[in-house]
Formats: sequence, C-alpha cells, structure tokens
Amino acid sequence: MTFPYEAPVSQSLFDRASQVTPGGVNSPVRAFRAVGGTPRFMVSGTGPYLTDADGREYVDLVCSWGPMILGHSHPEVIAAVQEAVAHGTSFGTPGAGEVELAEEIVARIAPVEQVRLVSSGTEATMSAIRLARGYTGRAKIVKFAGCYHGHVDALLAAAGSGVATFGLPDTPGVTGAQAGDTLVLPYNDIEAVRAAFAAHPGEIACVITEASPGNMGVVPPLPGFNQGLKDLCAANGALYISDEVMTGFRVSKAGWYGIDGVTPDLMTFGKVMGGGFPAAAFGGRAEVMAHLAPAGPVYQAGTLSGNPIATAAGVAQLRLLDDAAYEKVDAVSAEVRALVTGALAKEGVAHRVQAAGNMFSVFFTDADVTDYDAAKAQESFRFTAFFHSMLSQGVYLPPSAFESWFVSTAHDAAAVERIAAALPAAARAAAGATA
Ligand code: PLP
Repeated sequence: MTFPYEAPVSQSLFDRASQVTPGGVNSPVRAFRAVGGTPRFMVSGTGPYLTDADGREYVDLVCSWGPMILGHSHPEVIAAVQEAVAHGTSFGTPGAGEVELAEEIVARIAPVEQVRLVSSGTEATMSAIRLARGYTGRAKIVKFAGCYHGHVDALLAAAGSGVATFGLPDTPGVTGAQAGDTLVLPYNDIEAVRAAFAAHPGEIACVITEASPGNMGVVPPLPGFNQGLKDLCAANGALYISDEVMTGFRVSKAGWYGIDGVTPDLMTFGKVMGGGFPAAAFGGRAEVMAHLAPAGPVYQAGTLSGNPIATAAGVAQLRLLDDAAYEKVDAVSAEVRALVTGALAKEGVAHRVQAAGNMFSVFFTDADVTDYDAAKAQESFRFTAFFHSMLSQGVYLPPSAFESWFVSTAHDAAAVERIAAALPAAARAAAGATA
C-alpha cells in the first residue's frame, strides 16, 4: 500500500538506526514490519499523547505496551523519580524502595506471599520456570500456542506453528534440547491439558499461561479454563504459573486474579509495576519461593534487580492506582470499544472487539476468537489499512493486528473525541482494503 503522508525526521532516524541496530529497532514489533511504512520515533509523551520527531502529535493507544496506565509523564511519578535519582542511581545493595514495592505487591495480590524483583518480564517468566523445575524436580513444561512469555528459549517453542506443537524451536538459535521439554497445547482446550498430564505422568513441572492472553490479540480464557488448569496441576503435583506481566495491576488492583479469583502457585509481573522503568517480579507461596537462593538452592540474581529509580517509579504508580483509577480506565476502554465497533459496523466490516477487563483488541473476522488458529484466520490486511488511516489522523495504534490496545486514566474526553473523529475514515479504509 502507499502511504499518503510523510515522516521525514523519523525516516532519517530509522535509516541511521538501521545502520547500527538490526532492523533499526530494539524490539521487533516497533519496526512496523506487519503494517509497513515508517516507524514513528517518539520524542515526548504527555498524558494520552505522544509527539514524534516530526512534531506530529498522536493519541496513544499503546501506552508503552501497558505500563503507562496513568498516561505519560504523570507529575507524581516524575516527582518520585526525580526524588530518587537525586540520591544516586544504583547501589548493588538492598534498599528501602525494594521493600516498599514488594509490600505493595504482596498487599494487593493474596496468592503472592513473597516476591523477587527482576528487571524484565522475560526474566520473571524464565526464573519462575526454573523455580518450578527446581521445586518439583521435573523437566517438562506446558505452554499454550499464541501465549507470549518473553523471549525465554524454552518458551519460544510456541507461537503456534505446526512444528511448535511438537516442541520444536520456533526460532533459529533455540536448540531442540532447550525446547524439547516444552509441550505446546492449543489455548482454551482443557482436554488437551488433561491428555498431556496423562501422557507424561510425573514429568510435568508446571503449566504456564497468560492469565488472560493479550499477545495474540485479546483472547480471554473461557469460563472455567484457568480453574481447570489449577485443578489439573494440583492433581498432578505440578505448579500453575499465571503470567500477569500484561494484566497485572492493569485490569484491576489485583490484576486478572482480581477478576477470576483462581489461585496460582506462582505469578509473574512487569509493565505497570515499573511505572515505565525496567522492573518486573515473580512471586507466590512462601513455601515455593523459599527454594530460591539465598534461602534455598535454586539460583537467581540480578545486578540491577530492585533498582532504586525503578522501584520509586513503581511504588508511586501503584499507590496512585486506586479503585477510582481502574473505574476510569475501564470506562474509557468501554467508550473506545463502542466507538470502534460502531464505526466498523456502519461500514459493514466483519469484526469482533474482544476485551479482558480494560484490555481489548479488534479481530477482523465474523467469528469469536478463542485460540491462536482463530486469531490467525482473521483478515489482517484490513487492520493494515485501518492502522494507517488512524495513524495519518493522529491516533497511534499497536502496529500489529495481534496486539492488545491500551488506554489510561489520562485519556480524557478530548482524546476520545480525536479517536471518534478518526474512526469513520479508518473504517472505510478497512472496508475497502484488499488482501
Ligand atoms: N509475559 C507477557 C504476558 C508479556 O506480555 C510480555 C511482554 O509483552 C512478557 C512476558 C515479557 O516481558 P518483557 O518484554 O518485559 O521481557
């Protein structure tokens, strides 16, 4: 497709970046490969808006892929960071900020009695898997096609292709040995999980699942699915790991656990809890966490774990996230979803807007999406046209049809009005798109 608008400064930055960085980016989705065109290099963010290097402003519906739940540059988070940075940036010793952040997490999420801080969601899931294997003395893990848990070797045997089903690596660089103990099952299929436990008695250390998946677009668990996972794990001596890196502290004060109430053995967190800084965590029952070094034998460590700036930002952000904040995010999400579906329906575009709490995404299909195969079957070429129309009108969507959209407490009536004004043309573009 052709792009009727230009971003010359972003383009020249992208050209320079492509010389010194593979693909020009430090995380693949940022390169716009799924939608084409020039990735926007952002220079600032305020409330619900981002401004790119060409000086164009966008309503941001990505929110840094979830963390910016209070909007960009929230004054109280910025003040907490400035206060912390004035005292130094890293000590390599324990600090009070780590205790405060851990206490905030433990206070909010009942199944988490103890928590270990790390710097990325990938580290959190990698460490939780190691702990589950160390705790159970078993090697195999179960994950679901379409669920993303970061770029952990064993968890990349995953993204749903046919070979993934057999636990083969999805990416060069991951060996069969690293992925060979990973069983990849279809999402929302509890019978497949039952069969896996029957086929591998006493061998499965854990089942890891996104608490409510947002990485194949938003595909919530069917009623009873998470409880079924928990029950099968309990019956077979395996741990149930709920990955709340995306949903944690975003969809409610207690994340997805606050919505479905199913008690995991271990949980992983990231994104919102770092207030825009690299902070993440894994936690769970004290009896399981006691196996971690230095209390126990399972090794895990990090030079920058519990960094004082990241913990100050995280504590400030979590303390601002009261019931009223979640009500506001839920309300904005519902408003935007209604606008999107109204605009697409008016143009006769087959679609489903699927939500999990305030997270949502649009599938260009006329059937409900409950697993990765169904997500992939959508007409994603319509998303490309829709995306570029929105972008040209100053609305920044995730540059992929397989990602969640995110809103914040800062998305006020003016921001929503801009989205509403852009939608009719975007819906027409989606209607007129061809494969
Ligand atoms: N788990 C889930 C559910 C995620 O959505 C992500 C990232 O999007 C990760 C883990 C990995 O987190 P990070 O990108 O911080 O390594």
